[in-house]
Amino acid sequence: MKKIAKETCILTMSPNNKPVETAASGETILFEAYDCFSNQMKNENDKFSSVGWDKINPATGPLYVEGAQPGDTLKVEILDIKIRDQGVMTVVPKMGVLGERIAAEKTKIIAVENGYANFNEKLKLPIKPMIGVIGTAPRNKDVPTGTPKDHGGNMDCKRVCKGATLYLPVNVDGALLAMGDAHAVMGDGEVVICGLEIPAEITVKVSVIKGQPYPLPFLADPDHVMTIASSETLDEAARQATRNMHTFLVNELKMDSDEAAMFLSVGADLKICQIVDPLMTSRMELPVWVLEKYNYALK
Ligand code: CA
Ligand code: CA
Repeated sequence: MKKIAKETCILTMSPNNKPVETAASGETILFEAYDCFSNQMKNENDKFSSVGWDKINPATGPLYVEGAQPGDTLKVEILDIKIRDQGVMTVVPKMGVLGERIAAEKTKIIAVENGYANFNEKLKLPIKPMIGVIGTAPRNKDVPTGTPKDHGGNMDCKRVCKGATLYLPVNVDGALLAMGDAHAVMGDGEVVICGLEIPAEITVKVSVIKGQPYPLPFLADPDHVMTIASSETLDEAARQATRNMHTFLVNELKMDSDEAAMFLSVGADLKICQIVDPLMTSRMELPVWVLEKYNYALK
């Protein structure tokens, strides 16, 4: 299996990035990833403000996938996310939803042991490793890896974990897939600006689907299919995620438009991925049994 080293990383998703590795459609690749602070915060004396913005949110890659052409879909099956035994969190005054309540910068090191994050003496959280930043090159522009958009990027969607399949747009030849910013665990919202940030080894299978059958980014796991959308406000992100799921029901399941709209109001859940990045991200979750009733198999 080919491996892309963590030192091979980018801070901008760009159509002009040079690929660092090539994969055939259907090939499995390992991405080694720094945490979102480029592994610079190793103990509680290391502060966020000393890391430097040129070290924040590195994404390993980009990978060139053979046969991927503009207008196609890149299918990324997340086969495994191996994390280290120690993660880090930070709070910073004026940053995140609770920024006004933070008096001074603080760093917290959290050990991961036997499947749990030891948050403090009382609180242990079961880990659920996920990928915060994952995307392809945007079309005609550069987007910092810290920003989520239609190409993916810093979506901070906690459902992007082992066993899930993410569908991303191909905007340039080869797609130029990159990823990083793993979290051992994260809550919807990511309210203080970070999850439990942790270095990771991410194994994915990449495949090219001709055309774009789904509104992208689109995510599937054993329980749900999900539309993900990012926008300047959470309101607009939520509306776009809803419109995208409606499009999926109408275009792929061939549901009547009004019927699909009403079903989303009773049978789907609209959720917040994150509320702290330069754009906000929302997702709509539809249970997979709906697809089974329509004899629909995902591509
Ligand atoms: Ca993130
Ligand atoms: Ca993060």
